[in-house]
Amino acid sequence: MASDTFTVIAIDGPAGSGKSTIGKLLGERLGLEYLDTGAMYRGVTFAALRRAIDPSDADVIARLAPEVELTLSEGRLIVDGVDATIEIRGPEVTRAVSLVAANPAVRKELVRRQREWAQERDGGVLEGRDIGTVVFPDAKLKVYLTASPEVRAQRRSKEVTDLDYETVAADIAKRDALDQGREASPLTEAPDAVIVDTSNRSIEDIVTELLSYVS
Ligand code: C5P
Repeated sequence: MASDTFTVIAIDGPAGSGKSTIGKLLGERLGLEYLDTGAMYRGVTFAALRRAIDPSDADVIARLAPEVELTLSEGRLIVDGVDATIEIRGPEVTRAVSLVAANPAVRKELVRRQREWAQERDGGVLEGRDIGTVVFPDAKLKVYLTASPEVRAQRRSKEVTDLDYETVAADIAKRDALDQGREASPLTEAPDAVIVDTSNRSIEDIVTELLSYVS
């Protein structure tokens, strides 16, 4: 795992902090594949809702996680053979995902798959909540992105056209609290992460700064 060619870039931060945009661009510039680990937690949540499983039923969710087949490719997520790309971004999955992600058995299974994904590729850019703290604590570069709650809610409400700004802001605040307050791998900065506030900076400027740490 610690070979010279194994390059992992870990990007963590709350919803709407810019992880996907910046992660994808960094991957392109560095010739590394990109993995959205949030989509994996959303995929397990989608599988649970489809089977009418209560996301707070920890034992049933724990048994479900290893059985869910997740295929992430070219921005699409296939869950047990069903294209879930659109639905995993919808309000039902978004409201239930933090509960599913707080389940230690789900985390154990998905962390295992994330490590395997990177090992098969000799590295990659991974974005999530616990990449620098838990999944790859030896990552070559750890980035923690932040932005003000207002900016994050504005970014998300532009993407989710059927919900108003207040609803999106409230959903994000609730999800932040759950992700930061849970016992299993809470969202937090790794001590050696580069912390970047993306509220008032251009994407290009941020990517240029981050690339300067990798050379
Ligand atoms: O990144 P995204 O907002 O799509 O993530 C959805 C949810 O998945 C987060 O709110 C969090 O509860 C969970 N998650 C996590 N660990 C990760 C990635 C996402 O707990 N590495």
